[in-house]
This record gives sequence, structure tokens and C-alpha cells, in this order.
Amino acid sequence: MADKTFLSWPFFEDRHRTLADGIERWCATNLPVDHGNVEAACRELVQKLGRDGWLAHTAPNPEAPSPLDVRTLCLIRETLARHDGLADFAFAMQGLGAGPISLFGNAGQKEWLKGTRRGETIAAFALTEPRSGSDVANIELTARRFGNGYILDGEKTWISNGGIADLYVVFARTGEAAGAKGISAFIVPKDLVGFSVAEKLEVIAPHPLARLELDRVTVPASAMISAPGDGFKVAMATLDIFRSTVGAAALGFARRALDEAVARVKSRELFGGPLADLQMVQGTIAEMALDVDAAALLVYRAAWAKDTAAARVTREASMAKLFATERAQRVVDKAVQLHGGDGVRHGHIVETLYREIRALRIYEGASEVQKVVIARHTLAGA
Ligand SMILES: Cc1cc2nc3c(=O)[nH]c(=O)nc-3n(C[C@H](O)[C@H](O)[C@H](O)COP(=O)(O)OP(=O)(O)OC[C@H]3O[C@@H](n4cnc5c(N)ncnc54)[C@H](O)[C@@H]3O)c2cc1C
Repeated sequence: MADKTFLSWPFFEDRHRTLADGIERWCATNLPVDHGNVEAACRELVQKLGRDGWLAHTAPNPEAPSPLDVRTLCLIRETLARHDGLADFAFAMQGLGAGPISLFGNAGQKEWLKGTRRGETIAAFALTEPRSGSDVANIELTARRFGNGYILDGEKTWISNGGIADLYVVFARTGEAAGAKGISAFIVPKDLVGFSVAEKLEVIAPHPLARLELDRVTVPASAMISAPGDGFKVAMATLDIFRSTVGAAALGFARRALDEAVARVKSRELFGGPLADLQMVQGTIAEMALDVDAAALLVYRAAWAKDTAAARVTREASMAKLFATERAQRVVDKAVQLHGGDGVRHGHIVETLYREIRALRIYEGASEVQKVVIARHTLAGA
């Protein structure tokens, strides 16, 4: 049974504790799912999460808007990740994909949120390109003005939900200025002429991922989110919210690894007693527990700050993501070690966690990028 004492921390309100109970019960009934066909599994998870109301937390209701609650997003992601990494992915991408519309969309654009909140429309966030990942301001996909619209040309890669999404928010160079100030965000439905999935990408923990090609894709001017040149701001504000939630997913993987390790060292008999009696093993368990709690403090501090006080929490979110993902990798590695040979057996839960955690240190800003952000704020005296 995962530790729940953190729910009594002052970051949370009673509604969060009730929600944490609810999502735990939902996970116990519905997860894990069979990942044999990862695209089908992901579609099914989105439908189920939508049907049972969980996706309603990923975007504001267009008819009664209220701000996204980051503590809620983090609690749901942490719990889903503890049970099934693909379920966390399905939930998270609905939020990230729809995030630019939730935060900056006009009333017409927000109509899309009805479908993403119900799990009837799958969303994707298309920023990365083959020649610009960490160097976001360098994107090359162009959007040229043509009549009352824009023509989009170029490539996107590493796009989560690529191939199964109905709706892509695509960031493109509109050229108002050089670099970050010359980018705009567009809503691109999947069935537009010239839009195609060029390649499906396979990774160590299978999720739907693709490289996309846009060959003279025409969108109306009304597809632009916010104003021309605002795309970088739109992307960064979206990441400001969802970065802390990546830390929460990492925390979920770490908690599961710790639970598995504790169960293992208590039940495994070695040298005439349980493995848990060996002091070096106890030292490892203590380090794991410390990393989990410290990560939880940073994740829920960032979420609480966003919900209650600060307009931007760039520094706090970067700290949460950096620490939680790096320490989760360490915790999971220790769990594998404590399982001995079983820990590296294909399909064992700690082996799965070992594969699941890795990409979190790279996407939505690699760890080094988070350090750059934290250092910039610290040096500026923020
Ligand atoms: C599983 C997965 C899902 C993803 N989903 C999406 C998605 O839905 N949408 C989307 O747009 N993108 C997505 N991405 C892309 C992701 O955001 C990029 O992979 C990430 O930003 C890194 O870019 P890159 O792969 O081009 O690596 P590069 O930019 O080439 O960086 C390589 C490495 O260089 C180092 N580095 C980078 N910058 C610095 C620095 N300033 N100082 C020191 N070292 C540095 C880091 O170690 C980094 O990992 C996804 C990626 C993965 C792996």
C-alpha cells in the first residue's frame, strides 16, 4: 500500500483528499490494461478516463470556465503512474495537447475542449522538430500568410499521440521577429490535406509517438491561438503548468518502485533471515524513501504555488521536474538492484518502471535545460 501521509500536508484541501481516494479506487478497478497494441490501448484509456470524468480535470469547461488545478493534475498523474505508465500518458497528453487552447484559446477554439474533456477527441502538442528540440526558439516549420489563412510547411517529430490524435496544436514560424518572437501556435485537425504521419517512433517504453509531415497544409486565420508571434509564450506558459505534473508522474513511478522494493526485502530470505534485516539494505530503503518524500515536497510546492499564488512558477516547476525525475530514476534503479535477477526480467514491474522513467528526464525540457532555467532565476535573484 503506497504511503498516503503526504495528503495531510498543508498544500492540499479536503477536495484533493477526496479526489485522491477516488482516483485510487478507479485505478484498482481499471488498471493495468493490456499494452499489446499500444495505440489501441491508449485510445481505450482515453475513452475510459473521459467516460468516468477524469479528463474533465485536464481542461476548463468552456461553459463554466475555471482555472486548471495543478494539484489535482499532479495527484491524478502520480496515482495513474503508480498503476500504469500508459494510463498516465493518456491522461497527461489530453492536458498538454489541449493546454494552449485552455490557456489562450478564444471561445470558438475552446469548443474543442468539450471533446478532449470527454475523451472523444485525442489531443497532441507539436513543438519539437528534427533540428530543434531543446533549442525551441529555433523551429523551422513555416506558416505563410495566404489570403484569409496560413499555409504550413515542415516537419514535427517526437510527437506524443502522433498518429492517434484528432487535434494537433502546431507551433510554426510566422516570422514577426527572429527567434522566439517569430513563432505562432495553430490548431490543426488531423484530416487536413497535406498532413501526414511520416514515421511511427518506437521507444523503450512503448507509447504512441510519431514524426509528422505538413506539406502545404492550409488553415484559416481563425486557427491561430492568441496573436501572431505569441507562440513561444503560449508554449512556455503551457509547459509552466504541465512540467510540475511530469514530476508528479515520476513520483508515482518512484513510489511504486519503493513499494515493490519494501515488499521484496521483507519476503526474500537470505543468510538466515529476511533481506530487510541487512543494514546495507535498510540504508538503500532509507535513501529511496528520502528521495520520494523530497520529490513530493517539490512537486506539490510547485503545484500549490501555481494554484494559490503565483501567475508564473517557472523556477518551482523546473525544480520539481528536475529533482523528481532524476531521483525517481535512482529510486527505480535501486528497486531493480534489490530484486536481483528478477529485477531485470522482461515484464517484471520494476523492469517496466526502469524503462518508463527514462524519457521523463528528456521530454518537456531535458534535465540540463531545467538547470539552466533554475540558474537563470537564481542568478537574477528571483
Ligand atoms: C517519449 C518522448 C515524448 C515526447 N513527446 C513530445 C510531444 O508530445 N511534443 C513535442 O513537441 N515534443 C515531444 N518530445 C520531444 C522532447 O521534448 C525532446 O526530445 C526534448 O526537448 C529534447 O530535444 P532533442 O531530443 O532534440 O534533444 P537535443 O535538443 O538534441 O538535446 C540532447 C541533449 O543535450 C543536452 N542539452 C540540451 N540542452 C542543453 C543545455 N542548454 N546545456 C547542456 N546540455 C544540454 C541534454 O542532455 C539533452 O538531452 C518527446 C520526446 C520523448 C523522448
